[in-house]
Amino acid sequence: MSYIEPELDSHKILSQMLASNEFGTFFGVSSKVLKEVWAALTSATGESVTHVSMEIGADNDVYNPVKDVLREINIFDHENKLVSKFNDKILYGPAKIPNYSGGLGVLAGDTLKSYADCHLPALGISLLYRKGYFSQLVDSEAGQIAHATQWRPEETPHLYLLKDPADPRKPLQVEIPFFDRGKQIKVAGNLWMKLEAANDLSYFVPEILLDYSLPSAPEWIRKAAQHLYESRSERAKAIQRRLLGASVLPVMKALNITSKTIHLNEQHGVAVVLHLIARYLQEKLGDDYMMKSTDQEILETAKLAANWVVYTIHTPVKAGHDRFYRDMYAEIGHPFCNRILELLAEEGENPDFFNFTSLAMKINRAANGVSRMHRLVTQKQFPQYAHKIKAVTNGVHHLTWISAAKAELFDIFPEFKDWRRNPGVFAKAEGLKNNDKFRTYLEQAWQTDTEKLIDFINQMLIEHRQKMHTTWIDPPNFFSHLKDSERDLSPKVMTIGFARRFSTYKRANLVFEDIDRLTGIVKNNNWPVNFVFAGKAHPADEPGKHIIKNIIDTQKELYEKSDGLIRLIFIPGYDMALSKMMVAGVHAWLNSPKRPLEASGTSGMKAALNGVPNISTMDGWWVEGYNQGRTGWKFGRECEISNACLSEDLCTLLFTEDSDSFYNLFPQILKTFYDETCRHELIDKCVMNIALNGPVFNTHRMAAEYAKLYKIKLAPEMERRLAAFRKLYDSNRPGKI
Ligand SMILES: *Cc1c(COP(=O)(O)O)cnc(C)c1O
Repeated sequence: MSYIEPELDSHKILSQMLASNEFGTFFGVSSKVLKEVWAALTSATGESVTHVSMEIGADNDVYNPVKDVLREINIFDHENKLVSKFNDKILYGPAKIPNYSGGLGVLAGDTLKSYADCHLPALGISLLYRKGYFSQLVDSEAGQIAHATQWRPEETPHLYLLKDPADPRKPLQVEIPFFDRGKQIKVAGNLWMKLEAANDLSYFVPEILLDYSLPSAPEWIRKAAQHLYESRSERAKAIQRRLLGASVLPVMKALNITSKTIHLNEQHGVAVVLHLIARYLQEKLGDDYMMKSTDQEILETAKLAANWVVYTIHTPVKAGHDRFYRDMYAEIGHPFCNRILELLAEEGENPDFFNFTSLAMKINRAANGVSRMHRLVTQKQFPQYAHKIKAVTNGVHHLTWISAAKAELFDIFPEFKDWRRNPGVFAKAEGLKNNDKFRTYLEQAWQTDTEKLIDFINQMLIEHRQKMHTTWIDPPNFFSHLKDSERDLSPKVMTIGFARRFSTYKRANLVFEDIDRLTGIVKNNNWPVNFVFAGKAHPADEPGKHIIKNIIDTQKELYEKSDGLIRLIFIPGYDMALSKMMVAGVHAWLNSPKRPLEASGTSGMKAALNGVPNISTMDGWWVEGYNQGRTGWKFGRECEISNACLSEDLCTLLFTEDSDSFYNLFPQILKTFYDETCRHELIDKCVMNIALNGPVFNTHRMAAEYAKLYKIKLAPEMERRLAAFRKLYDSNRPGKI
């Protein structure tokens, strides 16, 4: 359902979606809206933000307001060729841009979508990876098999190659300086544009994806730009980061973007500060600034550069922070750039490295962690900056993640009127807690979502078996080989979901630590359970891949020892579409990281917005979302936050202690599902998730907090709306978490 003026007829709506300029039928956004957004992004006041992220996940098969409107107005047989081409492209064209690996990218996408909904002028910048992240196959013997995702930006609807205004036959290009064996070179990149449209198409946020695959670029650049999180060498990784950071100012210049705020979504793009510093020095000292600058002048100028930057740190885990050998970096960076790094990117522990997290932490005007707990952790990790580190707790874009069945439910009850614009209204669910009609409808919607997920899995099990002779992949679930009558999962069985990247600290296999104990619990009461797992491990992360293999290897033992009561399923190819189906369809969402290593986590928020309770260690967002058990369950050790508990060593991951805590809790959870006299507790938790977590863990509220952090001036009506979101929640509320 859209907010396009309802009294308009279909043809008028369509005409509102088309631009009269060079974009024409491309995006489904009118000339008026294009003009308004572009005016804001290029205005002399600079009241906008440029959001820089290594990855952006915003798959259009999961959320696409342009497509929704086209479906609604239903003009198929239009005689206008352009319009029917537009229809075909949006309604049936490929939708995915495989430019994300996990939570960081999906968060970036969700953020930009909420900025569009809240009319916060913003530009997203990321790279375009022609081989994506990777596609995941899983074989029962080999475990995860990674292969390159082949996709063609040229054939992807919504992805527009920007043209040079001086010569529209040519693509617009930016050039960024690189250093190659002692020589300065310029590398040219094309600019692809995607739009994140507001739900009612009244605004948008453009996203620029930089394409460094041009034949004119040296091969080592093209290779470094192929895969997201390229890991074949430290050098390739460093080059990829440079491609992002060094492009920011040239892109802004090419498009006349005047943002006074550059938001670094994690430190990957921090090289932009080197260019800001160089620009200031050049203004001050002239073209031979490199010869003239003193260390003192560089440090003074760094303060000016800092005024531009807002930095969000996303993880306390070491692998999330870039450290590069100085000697290696000298090969790709100009000696002057290395001189700046010598002054600003020191690595306390090892002087042979540049530390890019240190650089980002130092050079900014505001820095924040992504939950209240993560703020504390970050303050411990960077005590010298503790005073300035704030929290902005993450959220998810509610319009993307609420299932169709739940959306229908919210549309039926007038209490939720306007929920699309204002997720604050979810608080009203509390008033419906004892409303039988609401509870019944809620349970029905939940069941619809469960059936959809279970049908998908049952279909998948058959397909894997059918395809094995052509793909040579042995099905990742041994259930694929069972007889028809034994194979199918039932939607009546309590189904627990787990899906995220497979990193060791997330401990995907924690609840399978003691199989005898787990199978004992279900056998004692004859309570069957489905565990549904998905997720990718980075191809270079051997321990992560090992956990996937471990999960698959555990299926048969669990099934047999539990007398067929436990089915552990692994679904390959985790992406946003699968995520959406899982978070809404399961009966509880499992999250088992070692506290306090999960900075926030967002998949649990997606579950919560669908009313699905979490079962989680007290880490990341769950410290804020748990609400004394009214919204789910907690388990595991609740250590005091100190540097000691930040260890990622296997022997410090508390497998025995935290799994024991889970087994103590688990019978209670199963009871709420299977014991008719307790069932109401489960529905209570479902309602209270919507009521307590719905208004908070969404990116509209998060956008409101960021707008304040950016100190951005918005139109008065929008500012009022955002102020209302801020009233609902303050990530930096003084006192206890
Ligand atoms: C939400 C999401 C994530 C992030 O999940 P976490 O719980 O934060 O680890 C990762 N991948 C996909 C595809 C997602 O949709």
